[in-house]
Amino acid sequence: MVTVQLIQPPRSQGYGDNSRSACYVPLGLVSIATYVQSQLPNARVEILDGEFFDVNDIIDRLKPGSFVGLDTKAPNYESALLIARAAKDISCRVILGGVYASAIPERILSYRSAIVDHLVVGYGEIPVVEIINGRTDPLIRNGSPAFNDIPLPKRDLFLDLEPYIENFQRQHKTWGNLRATNTFTHVGCKYRCLFCERTKPTKGVYFVNPPRFWEEVTSLVQTHGIDYVVDFSDTLTQNTDFLRDLVEAKPAIINPQFHVFSTADGINSATIELLQRLNVKHVFVGVESGDETLARTIHKGRDFSPKMTFDAIAQLAAVDIKVTPSFVLGLPGESKETLQRTYDHARKIYDIFNFEEIFCAGLIPFPGSPAFRRLEQRVEARGQLFYRDIYDPEQLRELWISEFCNVDSKEIMEFTDKLLGLGKYRITIRKETTAGVGSDDGV
Ligand code: SF4
Repeated sequence: MVTVQLIQPPRSQGYGDNSRSACYVPLGLVSIATYVQSQLPNARVEILDGEFFDVNDIIDRLKPGSFVGLDTKAPNYESALLIARAAKDISCRVILGGVYASAIPERILSYRSAIVDHLVVGYGEIPVVEIINGRTDPLIRNGSPAFNDIPLPKRDLFLDLEPYIENFQRQHKTWGNLRATNTFTHVGCKYRCLFCERTKPTKGVYFVNPPRFWEEVTSLVQTHGIDYVVDFSDTLTQNTDFLRDLVEAKPAIINPQFHVFSTADGINSATIELLQRLNVKHVFVGVESGDETLARTIHKGRDFSPKMTFDAIAQLAAVDIKVTPSFVLGLPGESKETLQRTYDHARKIYDIFNFEEIFCAGLIPFPGSPAFRRLEQRVEARGQLFYRDIYDPEQLRELWISEFCNVDSKEIMEFTDKLLGLGKYRITIRKETTAGVGSDDGV
């Protein structure tokens, strides 16, 4: 019997928890697992989520000769390599996928061909089945999510939702006893933000067929009592026609609350009306900077500015939709003055709209992002080697700050903490998180 082990590796050593940790199922892996099971009913398929297991736990659970799929992100790549090495030692076939592997596939294969049999760029459902059926090429590209040709993700077959729901409740105590889970309405983004690596593999935006989306949500509501749906798609307001179709296809028998992501650029009277009809209660908005000149370096829409972000939040607040503002410090040309302007902007938003959750981090030029390419060009222009497969996020950030900012990383981290201190629930990406990061509930 074929055994398939799909693994979200734990964050690599030093990258701590935040208020989102272990609240959301690894939905991409659930989708792959569901597709594999539908095509190979006799296969034994399991998911190991590194939010609940450490590297050694996962290595202990590896089964000799199994197909091992690893979902990589920059903060877990080193853990993924440890698991891959252990898997090869017991004759597993190792498949790497995920955002990180998709961003630098050739580099990874050039360094890791001894422990990685296949690397999938993009979406893994169909390639994983093909590999199990005998496909042998090491680099497989699949840029289309084929949402509408694969079965709905069957979370129940592979995971217990309750621990995720309980973590969400524990880590968002003032939000009531919401039963939350995550979904996707689309993948891809029409924007090209300086620091974002998420859009590269798809090179386009793919939307889930609205009736299919509602079938999934209806099942979550009726089977698990889900009343809070966190749509982790890139930015829901980027296509008003899709948003309208989604709203108009909503079944009358369910009405869960929604938490979605949107650019400020996408907030206007038409999208607000649709968000209200969807029952959106919370929007994660990329505010990024309080400095007008730095805001323009991001490329998050033509007129992106602190005024635009403030106005968008004001429009949402006027209809009682809460926000999680997101800030990125360390934009090109960042200085003490611009950091202060960003703090003042965040403070003003806090004083007027009183948000509870905040994201703030120093800019990390993740592989696949425009910032990564700029950094690479800068370093290589000096004749220095930048080509490798392990890019520690913290080291990338340090290098970026030294190359592109007029402040040092200590000042950026101090302001990151100041901004995070405005929120009750704090989300960041940082090695060796301090006591100030997480939430007031000690998470
Ligand atoms: S709007 Fe969000 S998802 Fe889109 S490119 Fe910018 S950061 Fe990435």
